[in-house]
Amino acid sequence: MPTIKTCTKCEQTKQIAEFHKKASNADGYSSYCRACQTEYNRQYKSSQVGRAVQTLSKTRYERRQAEKELGYEIEDTLLPFHIIMIQAKSECLYCRSELQPHEVTVDHVRSFRNGGTNTYDNLLPCCRRCNSRKGDKPLLSFLRQHAASDLQLRRVVFELAQRQGRGYYDVWRSLQDDVEAVMNDEQASIQR
Ligand SMILES: [Zn+2]
Ligand SMILES: [Zn+2]
Repeated sequence: MPTIKTCTKCEQTKQIAEFHKKASNADGYSSYCRACQTEYNRQYKSSQVGRAVQTLSKTRYERRQAEKELGYEIEDTLLPFHIIMIQAKSECLYCRSELQPHEVTVDHVRSFRNGGTNTYDNLLPCCRRCNSRKGDKPLLSFLRQHAASDLQLRRVVFELAQRQGRGYYDVWRSLQDDVEAVMNDEQASIQR
């Protein structure tokens, strides 16, 4: 049994009592020290994903319902992906076509290729057709062609603003910037 351990977060070596027990780790102790773990938990709870998880796991009943719809068990550490699936309405957020829970796909608003991340504030639920049509295109370019309506386009921007905790026009401007960045890239490749 170890008597001391180095925290992978603060990199300080501390007495083993300063670490929570964690059976799934080889030495039986958490890799973060207690102080770092507390800080991590605090940050996680106030993050968007953390808040979503708390809302979702409010009651066992709600959790079971969500699991029934998804057709599999929700793990304790919910991935943003799962949250999106659970929160998805019964229609595509982009084209408003009807969606069964198992038909929901998760779109990366800014694609991986363009530096997008796998985080809650970059993921939106939509149908398979919209997801593949959009591909790497900037969200606004795609929506101008394929959104169910102008109102729906604005709803999408609003949804994104909520997820990112930013103002509507602020998000609108970033999305517009994404469109211009692609146009500039195309221009540059023609001139080359
Ligand atoms: Zn630490
Ligand atoms: Zn769609």
